[in-house]
Amino acid sequence: MAQVAAGMTGLSELMADPARVVFDEVADSFEELERVLNAKAALDAAFAWLAEQSPEAGQRVGSTRGFDYLLAGLGLSKKEAAARLRTGRHLFDPPAPAPAPAPEPAESEEEHRAREAAEREKADRERKAREEARRRAQHRSAEILGVISQELANLNEHADPGSAQLYNLALAEAGRRTPEDLRSWLRDKVTQANQAGMPDLLAAYRKRFLHLGEADADGGRRVTGYLPAGDAAKLAAALAPGLRAGVNLPDPTGKDPRTLSQRAVDQLSVVLDRYLANQSTATRYGVGSVLFSVTAEDVESLSAHSTFSTNTGDTLNLIDVLRLGAAKFDVMALHDTDGQPLALGRGVRHASFFQKVALFAAQGVCGCPDCVTAAVHGDAHHLKPWDRGGPTDLVNLMLICRPHHADNDDSRSGAGGKGHADRCPTTGRVGRRAGPGQPLRFNTTHAQDRSAGARIRNRRDKAPADRAAG
Ligand SMILES: [Zn+2]
Repeated sequence: MAQVAAGMTGLSELMADPARVVFDEVADSFEELERVLNAKAALDAAFAWLAEQSPEAGQRVGSTRGFDYLLAGLGLSKKEAAARLRTGRHLFDPPAPAPAPAPEPAESEEEHRAREAAEREKADRERKAREEARRRAQHRSAEILGVISQELANLNEHADPGSAQLYNLALAEAGRRTPEDLRSWLRDKVTQANQAGMPDLLAAYRKRFLHLGEADADGGRRVTGYLPAGDAAKLAAALAPGLRAGVNLPDPTGKDPRTLSQRAVDQLSVVLDRYLANQSTATRYGVGSVLFSVTAEDVESLSAHSTFSTNTGDTLNLIDVLRLGAAKFDVMALHDTDGQPLALGRGVRHASFFQKVALFAAQGVCGCPDCVTAAVHGDAHHLKPWDRGGPTDLVNLMLICRPHHADNDDSRSGAGGKGHADRCPTTGRVGRRAGPGQPLRFNTTHAQDRSAGARIRNRRDKAPADRAAG
């Protein structure tokens, strides 16, 4: 490690002012550096895999999951940690057992033996391919390994050749293809392998996902997803009526300047409004609503630049709030000057619903350090457990995401290396300790800073005392 560090320091010194360096004198060194550093990708994947297998990894950061160690211990993003783990599993997981063969009653003794032999042979090929892949991966960049993992995610369980063989083949091809070319080559291979294997009727169902991207500079989010045919048909049927000219416009007979894609969004909005307005829907219990958090000052100084944070993690501007039809579905939380919720919404609601609104307003996101999971995915956690007499009062509640909730040590004894949520006795702010006697750490993420509670705290204390609280 010291040698690597020394080498890197030397290069940094040399390149401190690249304008004074002659390109031809350093090009060979940098080509060599790129080759040498390619080995880091396979090493990173191996270490990520090891961290996932080792309970000690999670314990270092007060968690039961090696994944949390990759985030907190190495400082990786979730995306990078997941990419390293995917590559690690491809290279180091034991080969999956062959799927149970479908019963073939008409099969003769001889055919049965032949089929079993073919399956053994395939398993053998997979095992050898995996060993070879481990050697080849040492020379491939993180980018190449990422491309291969992404494309192989579409490979079916019964595909022929299997995952390890295709992985190894792709590593070999990577030597003479650009990353883009490798991707399109491998995509074809995956299609062919899926067709050659037994048809997999659940393939599309397993691939289903719907993802809302991060908000861009205008506050909108890109939606990506994959729908099995049945769901795709439902969506197409629900959108179709909105694609005709004039539908969903105040004057349906006038000229319709919207593109088809814009009409589809307007129709989707109508469909969602109907769902959210349906009071009998079970999911309306707090989580199916859009809640947003406002300070009294925000209301007094409303402007075109006003924004409101919400329980879904979206930041709404005034037009967004109006388009939501706030009067129909939404609850606003008002705060006093200490950041404590003052007044909540209107109408009759279950108490815990109001408490959830209040917790959202105070925190905005999960209360654990470095976590940016939006409040809408959180649970109201009892700091003193309910079954030990902890009351369902705001002072005993904290909003916490499901993975952190599942990982909380209610006994506060440090059992299993887990940490626990706690409240600062001086400031009342909630946070998490990595174990008994560990310092209380707060969520200081940007997402948390946008909640009304945090904005009030930040305005009042220029040097917040609670960041240093023990
Ligand atoms: Zn969390």
